[in-house]
Amino acid sequence: MVTHPLIDFRTTSYGGRSFFAMQPIAPGIQLLTCEAPFAHVIYKDYRREVCAQCFAYAASVFRSINDRRTWSIRSCREGAESVWFCTDNCRIVWESGGIGPLLAEMNAILAKSQIATRKKAKDGLRGYDSPDTIFPGRPDVQITQGYIDKAWAEAEDLASSRPRLSSYCSTMNLEDMELEIARSVTSAIVQRYVFDHRPTNFSPSMIATLDPWTAVLDLQSSELSNVQLRPYVLLAHLRVHAFLCHSLPKHLRQYVPIVRALLARDTGNSFGIWDGDDRDEMLGWGVWVSASYFNHSCCPNLKMTRTGRTMRFTTSRPIEAGEELCISYIDINQSMAQRRRELEDSWFFTCRCQRCQSEGVDEAYQH
Ligand SMILES: [Zn+2]
Ligand SMILES: [Zn+2]
Repeated sequence: MVTHPLIDFRTTSYGGRSFFAMQPIAPGIQLLTCEAPFAHVIYKDYRREVCAQCFAYAASVFRSINDRRTWSIRSCREGAESVWFCTDNCRIVWESGGIGPLLAEMNAILAKSQIATRKKAKDGLRGYDSPDTIFPGRPDVQITQGYIDKAWAEAEDLASSRPRLSSYCSTMNLEDMELEIARSVTSAIVQRYVFDHRPTNFSPSMIATLDPWTAVLDLQSSELSNVQLRPYVLLAHLRVHAFLCHSLPKHLRQYVPIVRALLARDTGNSFGIWDGDDRDEMLGWGVWVSASYFNHSCCPNLKMTRTGRTMRFTTSRPIEAGEELCISYIDINQSMAQRRRELEDSWFFTCRCQRCQSEGVDEAYQH
């Protein structure tokens, strides 16, 4: 993460840490760059259509030329999932550094494991631990932190016994969306593994971009609010945890204890990977850690743009000294009610930005 000398980090009473302008800043100034997502997933169904390196969407690029929707440059290694690229250069970048190929290998293992668990579930083979008896999906009790902690303690207990875990997983029938979550968590695990096994002559500047784990764990967890609003999320996360403990090879399995912490932060901190500015299709999602340092405003003063894997934050209007730097998490062309609902549902807060406050006053006058 490369920050600008014009901005400063401060802790706020309402939204954790946030960036503020140290002096007036003109529009069009790039204040922060985040090289790559810490975790990401391109939906399985889009693999041929989205470049694995720069996330370019073939249908958008070819729209004006012909009807082609898929890329033709492909990496297919034995034991690894096939991956597609927009150019040879993207393939070369992806292959260097070791993260891409290892992730493709792990994704192949996960896909195979999902098929195996599905087949057994279809054949009616039942283990002695039926998923629903271990993790209640929608409890009628009120969900407290204690309840969630207890469920995770059971999940860890299950993972500590290989026979019990295999039995549980052999009938779990992992949903497609759960597989996408597992793939996104695996992308973070692979990054961590490659980081821990980097050569000793690794340059410090690379470490700064590769080691965002501490920063991720620093992010605010939205576990309790998320599970209270959507109780089914807890079961999905526990199933993903069990599935990863069961499927990943031993050298990566040691990172699985971090899964809960990641998933607890994923919801409020991930951004959709879209086909373009008009946001017609969501191709997957990613967590860009530094994006999470910016609070939301419905009249933001920063614009967030993605070029390839890199996220850039640029001022979109003149900013005064001391002003908080904000991006928008949602489509700000929506009505106040729509914006509020989306922010409350996905980010668990009620927006009190200047625009919402003035529109709220207007609304109060009208009624
Ligand atoms: Zn590309
Ligand atoms: Zn607002």
